[in-house]
Amino acid sequence: MLVDDENSERQQTDESLRLEREGADLALGAEPALIDETADAVIHRARARADRVLAAARARTDRGFRRSSVLPADGVTVEREREDQVVRKERAAADETVRSERAEHLAILSRERDATDRDLLSERARSDDVLATRDEFLGIVSHDIRNMLSGVVSLAALISRLVARGDRPDQILSYAQRIQRAAGRMDRLVGDLVDVASIHAGMLAVTREVADASHVVAEAVDTFHAQASAAGISLEADPVPSPSTGAFDPDRVLQVLANLLGNAIKFTPAGGKVVVRLERTGDELAFAVIDTGIGIAEDKLEHIFERFLQVDATDRRGLGLGLYISKCIVQGHGGRIWAESRLGEGSAFHFTLPIAASA
Ligand code: ADP
Repeated sequence: MLVDDENSERQQTDESLRLEREGADLALGAEPALIDETADAVIHRARARADRVLAAARARTDRGFRRSSVLPADGVTVEREREDQVVRKERAAADETVRSERAEHLAILSRERDATDRDLLSERARSDDVLATRDEFLGIVSHDIRNMLSGVVSLAALISRLVARGDRPDQILSYAQRIQRAAGRMDRLVGDLVDVASIHAGMLAVTREVADASHVVAEAVDTFHAQASAAGISLEADPVPSPSTGAFDPDRVLQVLANLLGNAIKFTPAGGKVVVRLERTGDELAFAVIDTGIGIAEDKLEHIFERFLQVDATDRRGLGLGLYISKCIVQGHGGRIWAESRLGEGSAFHFTLPIAASA
């Protein structure tokens, strides 16, 4: 499905590039040429008419001279020659002005075309980047899933052998737990992929019901307690206000909290602290997950909710999708999500949900 999306996205990009380029070409070439030709014809006709009027006026004057048998004075011929020179000069000056205005116009259009070309190129580079990132991403996911599957197959074979020998129950238990962890991780990977595909198709399901947000927070903290203490991190929820009911999708909100808590624990060294906070502010429920971890550099912070983004590209513990999916879930509820962080000091991820089902 992603591959189809990529192709159609690329086709759309190409199509919009083609249209933009066509527009630029039209502006640069055909259209001004047409306008110039029309303007030239108008000037030409106006001048021809002025010439005809002047010639007729002069002919009338000459007939007058002939009727009165008076020869036109030399001064008349000289005067006419002077007038003709003035007209020729004025026309030449007007022609020069038109020429330089057209040259300036062409220069502007050509500068605009250069700018369009630069925009097109950077747009193309950006879309190529997205596609390359997705290809790389799909490669990583397939590779990870195959590795985990082959691990599961080997562990299952080991368990069968130990069971057949009636040997080492402790070892069997540890292998079974490893299979469970691998299956959980594969489930999350596939779940993230499914969510991203649904978001892409505009079909991320958010099913609101009236629920108590404090229960969701308690469940999230419960789920991560063992993981946090294994990592030497203290995890607690600040006292929760009551009532904290609202119309939201509890499973999806739990998913957002799980993403944020998973990250907070992953990026906080032993001895650190993670706190979950829930407040009622006006007509919103406001959640926060605050850690004392490694923090995020300022220039990365603004991109943190983008798809496939990982601050450290060599970090294979996640896919760079968790925050993107969380953002889509929160926005699907009509809420907001944002992060504050200082490198080396920790991070605070906030999100809000409207209490009433307005969105
Ligand atoms: P992943 O599944 O790879 O963790 P996310 O979208 O959840 O992807 O997070 C993207 C990146 O944001 C992470 O790889 C990490 O670099 C950074 N990040 C997220 N949460 C935190 C946090 N609490 N502390 C420090 N860095 C974080």
